[in-house]
Amino acid sequence: MTPKPDASCTVCPTSGTGCHSIGSHLTSNLSLFGASKATRSRIRSFRVVTALSALLSLSIAGQLLAAPDSVNGGEYPDNSQDEHFHLTEEQRWAIERRLELQREKMRSQGVFPLPSGMSTAQPEFVWPVVPAAHVDYAGVDAISNYVDNDANFPDQILDYNCGGRSYDLSSGYNHSGIDIFLWPFSWQMMEDNDGEIVAAAPGIIIGKDDGNNDQSCGFGGGSWNAVYVEHGDGSIAWYGHMKKNSLTTKNVGDSVVAGEFLGVVGSSGNSTGPHLHMEVYDASGNLIDPYAGSCNVFNAQSWWKEQPDYYEPAINRLATGTAPPSFNNCPTPATTNFSNTHIAGTSLYMLAFYRDQLNTSSSQLSLVDSTGSTFDNWSFTSSEPHYAASYWFWNYANFTPNRPRGGWTFNNSYNNTDYSHEFFYVDTCDTIETLDSVTVNASQTGYGASNYITTANSVSVTNNADLALVAGNKVVLNNGFSVASGSKARIDLGDVCS
Ligand SMILES: [Zn+2]
Repeated sequence: MTPKPDASCTVCPTSGTGCHSIGSHLTSNLSLFGASKATRSRIRSFRVVTALSALLSLSIAGQLLAAPDSVNGGEYPDNSQDEHFHLTEEQRWAIERRLELQREKMRSQGVFPLPSGMSTAQPEFVWPVVPAAHVDYAGVDAISNYVDNDANFPDQILDYNCGGRSYDLSSGYNHSGIDIFLWPFSWQMMEDNDGEIVAAAPGIIIGKDDGNNDQSCGFGGGSWNAVYVEHGDGSIAWYGHMKKNSLTTKNVGDSVVAGEFLGVVGSSGNSTGPHLHMEVYDASGNLIDPYAGSCNVFNAQSWWKEQPDYYEPAINRLATGTAPPSFNNCPTPATTNFSNTHIAGTSLYMLAFYRDQLNTSSSQLSLVDSTGSTFDNWSFTSSEPHYAASYWFWNYANFTPNRPRGGWTFNNSYNNTDYSHEFFYVDTCDTIETLDSVTVNASQTGYGASNYITTANSVSVTNNADLALVAGNKVVLNNGFSVASGSKARIDLGDVCS
């Protein structure tokens, strides 16, 4: 696949929708927000204290502000979706021979027949890549290649759906599996163990390969790390390119259930970036294409419990940042330039990372301020019929509206799913912030600190003010800190200011 960065598209904001006065009822209270250090993308928040209950009406004069100044982006400008063979002929032969010997050995030892309850019917696969439990964004993967159902070569490609989402090579290799790659920021995701490979169906582990380098960026990567699972009907699934030393601690001969952890998505062996290559054989050793379709020449039935659609348009991640991401040379992780803290007067970037983006689905985007009022909204549609992986970023060059500081959300509704990302809007962002004896009076003010914020004596928030304190580690409120009726103060903790 040839990268096609495309910066020619433009956004078409809904005229005038971002410009109106708001009148809000604010509960005078002190709210605490918490976030773990591991939370990088979304700040999970909870309101724990409602100190005062007076309801007051607060009008904030709306300020005319255009929709985002610019939009840019396009196809994922990286080579990890590129075509490559996964195994040399020698490697493939050696694996097949070893697995066959292992099966014979296990049968002689009575490992087969399988544990009671394991079906001997054709397996029904679940999706073999899932986000790790710590992942706090929407999705981790995308499809780059299906099985090539056209035995001819080169450049004679048919996926199960009669499309061209596969590849072959002049050497005669026709892609024999499904490639599921990590997206976005695959190398960082691999380092963070974000994408886990799970068993698509229950079975017995009949082979494990581990200890091989997982930083491959192309051919000549040597041996891969992999787990091989035999199902109750004698069919076998290969799960390849795993991260070194990430494999399940279960041994050859142990059983696994559907959805059970097998390893972390990596880039071992002949691989151009972190992805899973899943390859399936029936009990007789015939290649299987798990997807049923009119161009599947291998098998008539689907092997999926619920066959995924050919395209699965979704957003894997939303983010805010100080600059566009920089995709570094493989295998160096990209520089995301993400930030969950926006400092007044600086450039604000809002980013969306799509999988299977289609020009038949459009995004409805909005920016909502800390009072819940919509600051801006607009729509966006890619002009390209299909991107397997794409990203777009919208920018306000100088984001200084007279708007409430505190927690804002960037929303993107796409393909019947609502996605949102929370960020903090503050006036400053230093390492340590000290609030002197000031009265926060009738305004919206936010302070950020990567380490901590401390208040001097007698800081008071009065006269319908809205104070946001955002710190990486702690906020210390000293004697005399007070929030008057009608005003609001929020404390946000998390990895949000750098
Ligand atoms: Zn593959």
